[in-house]
Amino acid sequence: MRANISNTVKFIVFSLVLALFVLIFAFFGPSFDKSKNVLSDKIEKEKINIIIDAGHGGEDGGATANGVIEKDINLEISKYLYQYFLLSPYSVHMTRKDDVLLYEAGQEKKKKQYDITNRIKYAENFDNALFISIHQNKFEIPKYYGLQVYFSPNSNLSENLAEKIQSNNKLFIDESNKRNIKKADKNIRILNTLKMPAVLVECGFISNYEEANKLKDSVYQEKIAFNIFISVLQFINENGECLS
Ligand SMILES: [Zn+2]
Repeated sequence: MRANISNTVKFIVFSLVLALFVLIFAFFGPSFDKSKNVLSDKIEKEKINIIIDAGHGGEDGGATANGVIEKDINLEISKYLYQYFLLSPYSVHMTRKDDVLLYEAGQEKKKKQYDITNRIKYAENFDNALFISIHQNKFEIPKYYGLQVYFSPNSNLSENLAEKIQSNNKLFIDESNKRNIKKADKNIRILNTLKMPAVLVECGFISNYEEANKLKDSVYQEKIAFNIFISVLQFINENGECLS
């Protein structure tokens, strides 16, 4: 019970701090820059496309451990993130909204490869876009835990976005997380291929019992999503004009 109360207090404090962030963004963000035409600036902002990519799906569950199937948590967190962006001035899109792998008739033999190719193609449809892939980590040694963000080597902005998500996670969700952002190599084809700012968030290790339990919890999933959301707001506030 005591743990529940202290968790509730922690969440209230967390929410208040994050609400403060959003207010600061709202008041000091570009739409309140008096030197610009507010209306045209709003139209510019609406042109930004946010692409949310829930990793795996359908026949590809991703990692499994501690009763958790990665694809399900990826989709839950992605849906929360999608809901937050619906409240923003930006256009938001999801590579998948259901429990499916993205391949078409005739692509069954190499469905996982086609799935990645199709996600890349989907993202490349959008201009002025940034891409956020949501995954969960797994390792054979269960003590390892903590969110970690990978970034595309094709754009400096990707590193900047990754750093914001990583550092806000440490600030607001898990101060014991010592992980650093990592440049994606060719093993993460989606980040290696996309030219837009692109990151892949490994939200935590489902192989760690405590973290798996947290990741199963809808409030924690929302926290992770909200943290990514405010990080993207900060990123656009600083770099939005570079996206076009
Ligand atoms: Zn994955």
